[in-house]
Amino acid sequence: PIFRNAQFEISVAQAAALPPAQGAEVAFAGRSNAGKSSAINTLAGHVRLAYVSKTPGRTQLINFFRLNCGAALVDLPGYGYAKVPENVRRQWAGLLERYLRERDSLVGLVLIMDSRHPLTELDRNMLAWFVPTGKPIHVMLTKSDKLSRNEANKTLFAVRRELAELGERVTVQLFSSLKKSGVEECEAVVAGWLGL
Ligand code: GDP
Repeated sequence: PIFRNAQFEISVAQAAALPPAQGAEVAFAGRSNAGKSSAINTLAGHVRLAYVSKTPGRTQLINFFRLNCGAALVDLPGYGYAKVPENVRRQWAGLLERYLRERDSLVGLVLIMDSRHPLTELDRNMLAWFVPTGKPIHVMLTKSDKLSRNEANKTLFAVRRELAELGERVTVQLFSSLKKSGVEECEAVVAGWLGL
């Protein structure tokens, strides 16, 4: 259970303030309100490790959590929150893009999407930024408890089919923080990235 007992380390607001890399990093990104904080808390087995905000888009920081294995879980700011002024939005996008494209210690990206609204335009932008790095991407379709089993599986296969053209380094799973389902599948993928 590689995310268990993750410890908060530092928050940074600017790419220039990023700490020197200490071991491999696994980044978590997603649209505001997609369920990223809940997913991190569920994976870590910690009710309030990542703050589950009432106001979507409030997490404007890059938060680092240290894992027992020495790697870091990096919680990236949620994107796509409409009520943010354009200049602020552009600044976040710049921070995200820079981190995702330039961070050598980053080994892979976990992209959180609401299973009811997967692959938004902004999700596609994220994919377009990250795919050229050649690093793996794992898509978690969360809130799967809000869909019937049949709908959830249909969504899973549709997203897999669509992302297959991006190559074998893109994987997709269903997840539910409410039901705590999909935890082991995510752990196995990330353990593979970290060579554990
Ligand atoms: P973030 O903005 O991506 O960090 O999203 P949050 O984790 O704050 O979740 C946004 C909202 O979705 C909150 O009201 C959560 O309680 C809810 N939520 C998150 N994950 C799940 C899930 O797996 N199932 C259900 N039913 N609700 C969820």
